Amino acid sequence: MGRYDNVAYEAPCPLCGTALTAWQTKDGRRVVQTLTGQELREQTRYRGDVLFYSNRDNCGTWVDIHVRARRPQPTRKERARMASPYMWS
Ligand SMILES: [Zn+2]
Repeated sequence: MGRYDNVAYEAPCPLCGTALTAWQTKDGRRVVQTLTGQELREQTRYRGDVLFYSNRDNCGTWVDIHVRARRPQPTRKERARMASPYMWS
């Protein structure tokens, strides 16, 4: 039983420029599997926003990345219905 999942991702530290390659998330199944960016994006459909982080930079910087859930936009028909005074009828 793990407490986190790994994330396959690489980005430079915003302060010192070192390549950050060790990323984790606690918003998955926490079974120490390795998730891709695409898999994290899919998680947002079920879990809402997903956070992953790198905390192993040698300059001491902790980097959080938030993947926002895409909320479904109402269709034109639904918007018209919401604006209608008869929406509750
Ligand atoms: Zn750094």
